[in-house]
Amino acid sequence: MSRTSGRDSLRTVGEFGLIQRLRRQWPTSSPQVVQGIGDDAAILQPSPGQQLLVSTDVFIEGVHFDLAFQTPRDVGFRAATANLSDIAAMGGNPLYLLVSMAIPDHLPITNVRAWYRGLQEACSPYQVELIGGDTSSSLHHAFLSLTIMGTIQSNRSLTRNRAKVGDHIYVTGTLGDSHAGLHVLRTRANTRPRVRLRRDEQWLAQRHLRPTPRIVVGRLLARQGIAHAAIDLSDGLSGDICHVCKESRVGAEIWATALPLSSHLRTFAKNNGVDPVEFALRGGDDYELLFTAPSKYHQKVCDVAQKTKVSISCIGTIQPKSFGRRLRHDQGRTQTLKKQSYTHFR
Ligand code: ADP
Ligand code: MG
Repeated sequence: MSRTSGRDSLRTVGEFGLIQRLRRQWPTSSPQVVQGIGDDAAILQPSPGQQLLVSTDVFIEGVHFDLAFQTPRDVGFRAATANLSDIAAMGGNPLYLLVSMAIPDHLPITNVRAWYRGLQEACSPYQVELIGGDTSSSLHHAFLSLTIMGTIQSNRSLTRNRAKVGDHIYVTGTLGDSHAGLHVLRTRANTRPRVRLRRDEQWLAQRHLRPTPRIVVGRLLARQGIAHAAIDLSDGLSGDICHVCKESRVGAEIWATALPLSSHLRTFAKNNGVDPVEFALRGGDDYELLFTAPSKYHQKVCDVAQKTKVSISCIGTIQPKSFGRRLRHDQGRTQTLKKQSYTHFR
């Protein structure tokens, strides 16, 4: 059996040598994985009474990640979090991961192993098993595609299309931190000589590099039947609320003063002369959950926050479709909430 040295390259170990190494790095242990890596398809033994959730995401070098300011391990961690977050938004339990990748053959094998360590690190709190994938060479950029599978008790999943007029709108955590963190990291990568980040900047950068999938909150909201609808905030609140409104055929009022802003984002905004509310509305990649729940369940929502130690803020209400989507400021002035979050091809 060969051992991997830091000098091994993809050219020397080849596709199958690489897969063997990754398989040893992340061995499966669940009895529900009847066959993991090594055959033409994985075989899983689902539990009765459960529905399967499946979601996939791609991550392209230069579009979704930049090795100028992210380590390969950060890339893996963030990619897995994006995937886990989709399962969180459905209220499910993440279980199995498939990893497909295309990599330029000059990439050191240690980078690929570091991607997987990042994936493993993000997945380990939930005992997610690596059950397969696909591996190819790429001419230029690295490409990663993750498919995650999870389960949920039948008919308990949280979807985008069940928000009801009168529901409260809630979000977990604080908003806009990841986008500010990206700004901090990019600026630093382009500044010579390298400057040291202040504490608030470090914290924001960390929120970008190591976001938290809200699995535990999502699971409780689904299990206890608290939420009507949910989505994870990946593109930015102003756009993601739009998906809920469209799918549920409702409108929404968002209260600008109720948006949860971290003290670090406020400091950043002051130092950079920007509006933190804009970051909260337009910034992507927070991977917080947005959900709606009937107002009578407000105490139950507070109990979930207390139990999970994740802050949850009420930021508005679901309105009839004719109301549209509006942002209310503190003196009662309202404006149309424009969808200005991240979108590809624009
Ligand atoms: P096939 O030729 O049938 O597509 P492969 O040779 O591509 O099979 O893959 C062999 C085994 O290795 C399969 O079980 C596959 O799921 C797994 N595998 C391939 N690439 C990866 C990867 N990047 N990460 C995890 N498992 C992988
Ligand atoms: Mg294959």
